[in-house]
Amino acid sequence: MSVDLLSLTPDAARVSLQEWLAPRGEPAYRLHQVLPRLWQRPVARWADATDLPAPLRAALDEAFPLPRLTLRTHQVSSDGTEKFLWALHDGEAIESVLIPEGKRRTLCISSQAGCALGCVFCATGRMGFRRNLSAGEIAAQVRELVLRDPALKPTNVVFMGMGEPLLNWDAVDTTLTVLNQPEGLGIGARHITVSTVGILPSLAKFARRGEQFRLAVSLHAPAPALRRELMPIEKKYPLPELMDALQQFRRRVTLEYVLIGGKNDSLETADQLAKLAQPLDALVNLLPLHPGGAPDLTPSTRAQMLAFERRLKQHGVEAVLRRSRGLDISAACGQLRVEVEARAGRGKVRAEEHAHIE
Ligand code: SAH
Ligand code: SF4
Repeated sequence: MSVDLLSLTPDAARVSLQEWLAPRGEPAYRLHQVLPRLWQRPVARWADATDLPAPLRAALDEAFPLPRLTLRTHQVSSDGTEKFLWALHDGEAIESVLIPEGKRRTLCISSQAGCALGCVFCATGRMGFRRNLSAGEIAAQVRELVLRDPALKPTNVVFMGMGEPLLNWDAVDTTLTVLNQPEGLGIGARHITVSTVGILPSLAKFARRGEQFRLAVSLHAPAPALRRELMPIEKKYPLPELMDALQQFRRRVTLEYVLIGGKNDSLETADQLAKLAQPLDALVNLLPLHPGGAPDLTPSTRAQMLAFERRLKQHGVEAVLRRSRGLDISAACGQLRVEVEARAGRGKVRAEEHAHIE
């Protein structure tokens, strides 16, 4: 039976490899040749690890095959943002978005195919839930970019693609370790952000991790009634309980807020939001609504977005209005798969295509 080393933490992968190498009579240094090929100096297939004897490479391939994601579509925006649509082994599709910002390169990754939570503004939510990703499939979104020529290693990773990471906690827990550990991808914990609507039991587990991983909470409304209209999860984990949990969280939290015209963008709503953000000393990320997720909702006007931001700042709340490209393209993850499937229906999808977004 084969084992997926890419779905294990580096420590667990080391143990598996050790237990396999030792009875084969391999010298001790083999482990230090093999293990870095998972994440540090990854190979697409064991055959490419040419510093290893050929019979060992063949045996590794049998025992520990390295699963790949298949690139179905690659779009490059004029501002440098890149979207990757990946096919999984069972034909499910997920996407990642790479956003260059100065010296930073932020990769937005998916944790589930689809999402069960049905937020009314979200394209992924409209698809419904397909399945959880394995830890290997989540981290592979980074690994595949490192395997490209030239390598595109992100400096920052955000769980803001498809799915709700805290509804796939076990896999996300392992992925966080893989992303962060030096024997994994070695990305600093403060450069890794989990975004969630606030699944309280897993949020508590996330809070217990010792590393400085960042937390972003999708709030979108400062009052329960309005939030329930936008996000069905409000019925299960109500805002007051979520706020209590965030109060317990030891590190600074980012609140995400998609501005929807006439729904949650009034100045009174900004006042309410400020009351929630102040005691947490939270950073508020204001995102323009990407209209693709919800045909019946309209983005706020530019003037209203600026007024909303100004009002928060008047209350002493740190608020950032995101540009309508960059991060907000990742915020609207789920978009690309919907587009590709619509075009697939018309028979136009090629294996890998380069197009401009917008
Ligand atoms: N499920 C998690 C993480 C994925 S969604 C969560 O909801 O936090 C990542 C971010 O994209 C969330 O803040 C979400 O509200 C935002 N988003 C979803 N649809 C959007 C849209 N149509 N326009 C702008 N942002 C959107
Ligand atoms: Fe799921 Fe997040 Fe989209 Fe809501 S916004 S449907 S939680 S992916």
